[in-house]
Amino acid sequence: MADGFNDTPKGAAATTRWVYSFGGGSADGDAKMKNLLGGKGANLAEMSALGLPVPPGLTITTEACVHYYSNAQSYPPDLEGQVDAGLAKVEALAGKKFGDAANPLLVSVRSGARASMPGMMDTVLNLGLNDQTVEGLAKLSGDRRFAFDSYRRFIQMYSNVVLGLEHSLFEEILDDAKDRLDVSVDTALTAADWEKVVAEYKVAVKRELGSDFPQDPRDQLWGAVGAVFASWMNDRAKFYRRMHDIPESWGTAVNVQSMVFGNMGDTSATGVAFTRNPSTGENRLYGEFLINAQGEDVVAGIRTPQALTKATREEMGEKAPSMEEAMPEVFLQFKDVVERLERHYRDMQDIEFTVERGHLYMLQTRNGKRTAKAALKMAVDQVAESLITRDEAVMRVEAASLDQLLHPTIDPGAVRDLIAVGLPASPGAATGKIAFQADEAERLAELGEAVILVREETSPEDIHGMHAARGVVTCRGGMTSHAAVVARGMGRACVSGAGEIQIDEKAGELRARGRVFKTGDIITIDGGKGEVLAGAVEMIEPELSGDFAQLMVWADEVRRLKVRANAETPLDARTARGFGAEGIGLCRTEHMFFEEDRISAVREMILADDEKGRRTALAKILPYQRSDFTELFEIMAGLPVTIRLLDPPLHEFLPHTDAEIEELATSAGLDLEKLKRRRSELSETNPMLGWRGCRLGVAFPEIYEMQVRAIFEAACAVKKKSEAPIVEVMHPLVAKKEEMAFLRKLTDNTAKAVLKEQGVELDYKVGAMIELPRAAIRADQLAETAEFFSFGTNDLTQTTFGISRDDSGKFLDAYLKKNIIEKDPFVSIDQEGVGELIKLGVERARSTRPDVKLGICGEHGGDPASIGFCEAVGLDYVSCSPYRVPIARLAAAQAALEAKAK
Ligand code: PEP
Ligand code: MG
Repeated sequence: MADGFNDTPKGAAATTRWVYSFGGGSADGDAKMKNLLGGKGANLAEMSALGLPVPPGLTITTEACVHYYSNAQSYPPDLEGQVDAGLAKVEALAGKKFGDAANPLLVSVRSGARASMPGMMDTVLNLGLNDQTVEGLAKLSGDRRFAFDSYRRFIQMYSNVVLGLEHSLFEEILDDAKDRLDVSVDTALTAADWEKVVAEYKVAVKRELGSDFPQDPRDQLWGAVGAVFASWMNDRAKFYRRMHDIPESWGTAVNVQSMVFGNMGDTSATGVAFTRNPSTGENRLYGEFLINAQGEDVVAGIRTPQALTKATREEMGEKAPSMEEAMPEVFLQFKDVVERLERHYRDMQDIEFTVERGHLYMLQTRNGKRTAKAALKMAVDQVAESLITRDEAVMRVEAASLDQLLHPTIDPGAVRDLIAVGLPASPGAATGKIAFQADEAERLAELGEAVILVREETSPEDIHGMHAARGVVTCRGGMTSHAAVVARGMGRACVSGAGEIQIDEKAGELRARGRVFKTGDIITIDGGKGEVLAGAVEMIEPELSGDFAQLMVWADEVRRLKVRANAETPLDARTARGFGAEGIGLCRTEHMFFEEDRISAVREMILADDEKGRRTALAKILPYQRSDFTELFEIMAGLPVTIRLLDPPLHEFLPHTDAEIEELATSAGLDLEKLKRRRSELSETNPMLGWRGCRLGVAFPEIYEMQVRAIFEAACAVKKKSEAPIVEVMHPLVAKKEEMAFLRKLTDNTAKAVLKEQGVELDYKVGAMIELPRAAIRADQLAETAEFFSFGTNDLTQTTFGISRDDSGKFLDAYLKKNIIEKDPFVSIDQEGVGELIKLGVERARSTRPDVKLGICGEHGGDPASIGFCEAVGLDYVSCSPYRVPIARLAAAQAALEAKAK
């Protein structure tokens, strides 16, 4: 029995099926079994059952991986027998035998989780080779050179993935061999040369590990299975999971599949294809292939791949023949298969294939990752092609990915100082400082710098740097290189294969077209054109048009939740309206005072030591407020505007330095010593729980009275000129019904006085934010005088967890890394805790006032998962920052469709 088997499993029934076979036109599983078989395994099964040419194999389930981790890293006892039975089927279908010296079956061992995690986990190819089987392979293939080349690749890959030895150990041996033979490329090595390299590799393994390279194919197999399971927990995989919200509890499946070889000469090849362009969405076969190469060579970006179609080759101005030209018959068969796959899955497919001596084999198909732009185009096109419905189109575009399209792009009229041209690997424009290493990119980004990561090529080790960077440039690699695929998935702009650029990492320099740029120099990249430009370049604001606008129309047709924006400046309000906001859900009035001349009036008001002093300062502020509100009402004509009265955590507004306070004394003609004394009186140990929110209005009603006056004077002015504004006055940080009753009265008295003075009639609403657990619990009482509530989930999260929203960054990361929390609760609502309070608040508020209007205006209002929650608990609207409005519209539509499907 192989090492690691456990005779006393916890929780696993003896009859559990751990292994599913596929191949020969049938399969045990199908595409719907992704959770159990992983994406790759489920689709291999589906393709087999469709009768497509898939090399036979078996899938070890994700449940076996879960068992492995919950049973001290040991396999279920009956797994070995099931794998043996599965292997016997593969042998029968392939007509070869695992470990047989004369007719050996070789297999690949690959990971495959439920969600694709490209390049994050481990793979071993050519497994089953040893000193005997390599001879069998040489005879069978009639190509001794190929057999020993495969064996040396296997030793290197296995030693790295399973035995933990560095690649460099093997690369040095190969480099020495090439030096001795005085050749520069691998292809110049003969069979005898590779045989010597293999012998040296084995000596190196023995020297490093004290034992021989494993010769028993069964030991090799179990070593590789264990390594794939182990790779589920490597740092890259963990990082990727955290970034894409993939739960650790899913585990990975393992696919053991009969090898086919794309490196058996010029009638063999390997490649990747997308049924539509993953970057632009254009409906045209797209991809790359390499003649006489093995799978990983294409993705690794080591050789420059060739186009699949003649048309693409001509467009790219390339000389090397396309697949259509180099192997026309196989190409026709391939084209037929991929078209069938897209129709079958009703979505764009990302496909891996190999041609072995003129025979086509499909190695993978999955729904392809795509940019937001491509996702929109494909969804809209596929509705027109009657391939999918409008509702399906709405579900096809990941709401958060729209962020990619909501950022500026390069102004077509801008001057472009071209440094280099590469491939347009992932669209969007980005400006930033050059960083040559992933760690450096991450470090600079943490300091708040915009960074462009420039690498020779990227590998999974660079993923954190790519995430931290605004954009990525590589000197080598095609449109399906690691950099291109990962950048597209992350929504980062990327230019790949910019071969004109030479990097000297040690000197911290890049050279191109005779120019030199150093670490920290600013460059701009245009991922849609594949250009790298010097300096910062003029950008233009995004707008909703074309496919984007069309999808939004479909989304709005099915959406129940309204979407408003958090906005206080005219620019933000206009942007929000342009993106389809249905009102303002939060106008933070304190943000209207950040400008130089205004902040001193506010400081004067806060620091005044009596009502008279405060009123003097308030009189200076009122005209600003009135004109700001007037503009907001005008921009939002016909839509509700929720104005929140002042909520300044005092520490954000007090003068910090002596110079600031001296300036204030001079400008306002106040006594410096008095001001200093007042500042220290007001300084708080815990300002987030201090004299903020409505506590300010309760203590100094004249402040809120001034604001309410400004709101209604503005509203009257607008109504006199045009349409009546829809006014909602909101009180922050309310906790008690008596507090709310006091604020309501204050608001009504002032509003009525102004309306009377102005001779205007106007409906308005008065409400509160729910930002404290007490407010949620007693929303029934607050609703006696409040007509609407908005859940301020920034503060509600802070006050429920007792975690300061300003300081959480320092320690939450440790919680995330240790899996104590899955998501930052300040980003996505903690549904079990904060969410329960929201539910309670909703229920209780409605128990008093059935038509109470309920919304959310914390940052969560723009987070798709939280929007799903808001739909489920029956809020009326979400409010988010202007640039997230389209994301919220789509997320709200998706939540409504999901609710309908339940
Ligand atoms: C909140 O607390 O969620 C909120 C929207 O208010 P602020 O962020 O201004 O405290
Ligand atoms: Mg708040």
